[in-house]
Amino acid sequence: MVQTARHYIAGAWRDDGGALADSTNPADGSVVGQYVPGSVALADEAAAAARKAFDTGLWAASPRLRAQVMFDIADRLEAAKDEIAALVVAENGKLRAEAMGETMAGVSEMRYYAGLARSVRGTMQEIGPGAMSLFAREAAGVAGIIVPWNAPVTLLVRSLAPALAAGCTCVIKPAAQTPLVHARIMRCIAECEALPEGVVNSVNENGTEVGQAMVASPLIDVISFTGSSATGKKIMEGASKTLKRVGLELGGKAPAVIFADADLDKAVTELTHGSLNMAGQICVAAARFLVHESVAQDFEDRMIAAYRAVRVGPGADPASQMGSLIDTANQARLMGLIEQAGDEGQIVLKGGPLESGAFLTPTLFRIDNLQSRLVQEELFGPIVSIETFADEAEAVAKANATVFGLAASVFTGDVSRAMRVSRAIRAGTVWINSHLRLFAEAETGGFGQSGMGRLHGVEGLADFLETKHVYFEPGTVG
Ligand code: NAD
Repeated sequence: MVQTARHYIAGAWRDDGGALADSTNPADGSVVGQYVPGSVALADEAAAAARKAFDTGLWAASPRLRAQVMFDIADRLEAAKDEIAALVVAENGKLRAEAMGETMAGVSEMRYYAGLARSVRGTMQEIGPGAMSLFAREAAGVAGIIVPWNAPVTLLVRSLAPALAAGCTCVIKPAAQTPLVHARIMRCIAECEALPEGVVNSVNENGTEVGQAMVASPLIDVISFTGSSATGKKIMEGASKTLKRVGLELGGKAPAVIFADADLDKAVTELTHGSLNMAGQICVAAARFLVHESVAQDFEDRMIAAYRAVRVGPGADPASQMGSLIDTANQARLMGLIEQAGDEGQIVLKGGPLESGAFLTPTLFRIDNLQSRLVQEELFGPIVSIETFADEAEAVAKANATVFGLAASVFTGDVSRAMRVSRAIRAGTVWINSHLRLFAEAETGGFGQSGMGRLHGVEGLADFLETKHVYFEPGTVG
């Protein structure tokens, strides 16, 4: 059955906007369904609906209602998990196990924040005799949530759940590549009977006008954005016109530092998964292998063998171990980068396309030039560099030599070194003897051009809360 993804505004499904557009399966080019692109007028309508729900409703003052609604949404997402995961595979191209993993992570995260919704509290301070100050934590207002295509379930829930828990109302803009996944999630939300009208609104699009209108809207107080650093800069610039608050979860170039005393078997297993999960299209993917020169050849030989053994194929095929890229345009872009890697470094394993579909087998290349764009920029695919270092100081310096600071990993048998290096690396997350472990409970976010603010964890609420000082002089007894 071909499905159509619509907008959801003020409690009603809407199919006005632009001409129907196709959503295609990157593994075989087939049409998965259609979606209705939005418009500036629809973005404004959604913002007005969210504003009205925030200003005139009791959502922000009803933590128990918020928890009830969020537990209900989580149950509905879980009940629809097979359908949602199948749509993620069809629209995004990732493996079925990856799709189910992200769907269930979204369910877990919605439940985590549903619990926290009932514990949003402020503090009180005695200012002097007979004078007191209350510091209330209040919902920031209307949150605009803009998400990318690479993990359309978890990245939506990662912003939506803390926004709802904090008491915000929301306008969501999904990515154009994954509209049907998003529409199925919105159905779970819309079916929740206790959800007040206008608390969650969603507008599709296939350009940038809806997102830009949200960023410019005087009715929206906070933008929670996940996407590339280039777009993040535009969002921050656009938000400056209304001095909106922005939470930015942006790009990364995660280094994995492998010391000579590391368990290389463990490192290779962790980093094969850590670099090729979602075909390398994940912000925290291991993108640079920094290896001590004494074990560099051994590590490289093992990584080549591990990469060669990875079965690349359709995400829907249980035998596949790495799915497709998001589209053939990215396949062509990455093949150009492989050629560049050959010119600037030395390719030790050359990847290439399969007979059809947006597939690309893994590439490993050596490089010794920190200034190269291949080292400095996010490649966002299964292409990883190998660089070497002579000592700990050089390892840290090289790990910190990009504008990004999202995630990193350290592989060593020396606990003190692991702690030292993890503190010296400027990144929002550092994994020790592992890579790619994300939890609803654990804050994520970036240093440098990887973003600002934190999502996940208790701190994730902060992007959606304001602190209000209420001063009172009740006087003293007597
Ligand atoms: P993108 O920046 O191109 O798009 C992200 C979203 O922003 C999409 O919904 C897009 O339609 C919208 N958008 C684009 N231009 C806009 C504008 N001018 N104003 C408002 N909205 C606009 O990113 P992408 O290619 O979809 O996703 C991949 C990127 O996302 C990578 O850089 C990746 O590292 C990053 N990412 C970061 C995290 C994180 O947690 N830090 C997680 C996942 C992905």
